[in-house]
Amino acid sequence: EPLMPARMRVAPSPTGDPHVGTAYMSLFNLAWARKTGGAFVLRIEDTDRQRYVPESEQQIFATLRWLHLGWDEGPDVGGPYAPYRQSERLDTYRPFVDQLIADGHAYYCWCSTERLAELRAQQQASKQAVTGYDRLCLGKTREERAQLPGFSETPVVRMLIPDDVPLAFDDLVRGPVSAPHPDDQVILKADGFPTYHMAVVVDDHLMGITHVVRGEEWISSTPKHILLYRWLGWQVPAFAHMPLLRNTDKSKISKRKNPAARLMWFREQGYLPQALVNFLQLLGYPPAEGEQEVADFDQFVAGFEWSKVNTVGPVFDLDKLNWLNGH
Ligand code: GLU
Repeated sequence: EPLMPARMRVAPSPTGDPHVGTAYMSLFNLAWARKTGGAFVLRIEDTDRQRYVPESEQQIFATLRWLHLGWDEGPDVGGPYAPYRQSERLDTYRPFVDQLIADGHAYYCWCSTERLAELRAQQQASKQAVTGYDRLCLGKTREERAQLPGFSETPVVRMLIPDDVPLAFDDLVRGPVSAPHPDDQVILKADGFPTYHMAVVVDDHLMGITHVVRGEEWISSTPKHILLYRWLGWQVPAFAHMPLLRNTDKSKISKRKNPAARLMWFREQGYLPQALVNFLQLLGYPPAEGEQEVADFDQFVAGFEWSKVNTVGPVFDLDKLNWLNGH
C-alpha cells in the first residue's frame, strides 16, 4: 500500500546557537518526508522577541546544511506557503485569535505581570491543588476590569480551557499518551505577537503539515493544540514526541552543561557531518539485534517505521560518537 505523501516540518526558535536537538528532529522529519515522497519544511519560530538572537537563524541554516539535512521549503528558499518566518506572518494569526474570542473560546486578560506573579506566589505558598490563572478577567469588560487592582493597559488573550478538555491523545511513537490539565494558556501577547501555541497551530494547519514530530517537552502542550484545531474546525495532524537526548548523568542535554549540545561545536571540532547524523539516527532509532549499526541515510529511510523509534531518552555519549567519527 503506497504511503500518503507527508508534509513534515522542523520549527526551531532562533534563540542562540542551534541545539543538537534541532538536527535530531530534522533527521526524523526528513526521513518520513523522503520515505513517503512528501516535503520537509523549515519554519523559523521567532515570536519570542526577548529571546531572539539575530545570528542564530543563519547558524541554523548553515549547520543543518552542513549535516545534509536540507529542506524543500523555508525562509531562504521560499515555497508555496511563504513566508516561513513567523515574525513576517503576524497578520495571519490575528483573525484567528479574533474568531476564537467571538466564539467564546478565548478572552482578554488585563492582569498585570505583578498580579500574576503574586497569584503564583500565593498559590505556591498555600499549596493549592488548583493552580494557574484565576480568571479574574473572564466575562469582564475593560471598564469593569479597570476598577480592580493589578490592571494593565495592554491585554493578552487567553484560551478558555474547558473542564472536560480531552487530555489523552495518540502518539505515533508512544501510543496513548495523557497530559496534565492545562491552564488558560495565553495565545496573544501584550506586544501583539502570538505565543508559540497559537502560531504553531495556525502555521502547521495553513502549511498543510500532516505530522507534527517534536521533542517530548511538548507533550503537555498537545491537548491545547488539539483544542485549537477543533475550535478552528481544522483537521488534527498526527503527533509524535521524540525522547530528548540526555547527558551521561541522564539529565536533558543542555547548552549550559554540555558543549556537545551546540551544533556549531561539532563543526568547530572537525567532526564529520555523516558521523554525527549516523549517531543521531542510532540514538533515536536503535538497530534491532543483529542489525548493522551504521545504516546509511537511504537504508534508514527505506526501513523507517514510527513504531521502531526509541521511547527512552537516549544518552548522548561522546565516546561512542568519537568511535563512529574515526570509523
Ligand atoms: N519552536 C519550537 C521549538 O523551538 C518548536 C516546537 C514544535 O516543534 O512544535 O522547540
